[in-house]
Amino acid sequence: MKSIKNVSFKGKKVLLRVDFNVPVDEKGRITDDTRMKEAMPTIEKLLSDDASIIIMAHFGRPKKGGFEPEFSLEPVAKHLSEMLNKQIIFSNELDLDKIAETASKMKERDVMLLENIRFYPQETKGDVSFAKKLSSLGDAYINDAFGAAHREHVSTATIAQFFPNDKYFGFLMENELINLQKLINNPKKPFTAIIGGSKVSSKIDILNNLSLIADNIIIGGAMAYTFLKALGFSIGNSLFEEDNLTTAKEIIENLKKNNTKLFLPIDHIIADKFDNNAKIEKTENENIPNGFMGMDIGEKTIELFDRVILSSKTILWNGPVGVFEMSSFANGTYSIAKCIANATKQGAFSAVGGGDSVSAIHHSGYSNDISYISTGGGAMLEYLEGKTLPGVKAIEE
Ligand code: AMP
Repeated sequence: MKSIKNVSFKGKKVLLRVDFNVPVDEKGRITDDTRMKEAMPTIEKLLSDDASIIIMAHFGRPKKGGFEPEFSLEPVAKHLSEMLNKQIIFSNELDLDKIAETASKMKERDVMLLENIRFYPQETKGDVSFAKKLSSLGDAYINDAFGAAHREHVSTATIAQFFPNDKYFGFLMENELINLQKLINNPKKPFTAIIGGSKVSSKIDILNNLSLIADNIIIGGAMAYTFLKALGFSIGNSLFEEDNLTTAKEIIENLKKNNTKLFLPIDHIIADKFDNNAKIEKTENENIPNGFMGMDIGEKTIELFDRVILSSKTILWNGPVGVFEMSSFANGTYSIAKCIANATKQGAFSAVGGGDSVSAIHHSGYSNDISYISTGGGAMLEYLEGKTLPGVKAIEE
């Protein structure tokens, strides 16, 4: 691991890629600065080394090429300055020559935040000559943007080749990789993965890869209905993917072949429409009557899933097991959060990733009882699918 822990950056100008893609309200005010807080250990280490820092980050998905005010990092720059309790340099300049001029005047402990790196159309194309020019701004490169590590972009990957001896993982990135490796390399057994959400199609690769390492796979959320239908149960009007019935059957076979136990819901909370105030009923078993759709897991399922989770030593959770955004159907997802917290208190290692599961963990109040909460949904999934993340490879090679 190319860690920054034992490296001194004194007197160096460090190009640091972070994930400052924070949520904002309609007035552009930051509503949650968790991502910025998570980058602080690396920034503080560099400041205490008396380095100067040039921060690269993206914000949203600008499409036009060039400056677009709604995607400006200016509010982030202001907030960063408050967090660091010091003035930082921010300009909406996109001319790299002019930025280089400013950079050349930077002194020890100066911090400069570049405007949204995706305003440069070359960024997402991995353009090598742009990467070379960008790299000339600094003496070392640190990637601390785990949330963007699955992207082969200039600031997350391409630029690293210009720092063959001075490229590192930041503390956040290092922590993510150490924890993800605990899941992949000799996890403590039994290892249970809880996979939820709406689409089988987005979880095929992770389910197949997990079948090689997990002992138990729990499937919840809308994707469970594609599996239940493939097994011959009636699912009423529940959301499912017709095109993936065969894939679901193949996954079931694959799990059997690898001796991985599959747990699907055995009862449901159902509704006559996709609405918090719909007519709500419970089922006795797996089957859902016509005119109703599955919206959450039922009590018997919660008991079953709890038993499996509480007997596990390693737990991974990605994806809600019901329509948790509606209070009438949130019980299953919050019960899973509570149960994982309890298993962790009993000594299990637990990892939670993906926007919805992370938000459920925070709302449930159990976030301090989870071993590791990932900052990267897509990046975590791809890592657990067995793929090499370009942002990781670029530092390691
Ligand atoms: P994904 O984007 O695939 O991770 O899925 C997350 C979404 O799945 C959330 O917005 C949930 O509301 C949704 N979801 C979970 N369970 C169900 C269900 N039973 N029916 C419809 N949507 C669901």
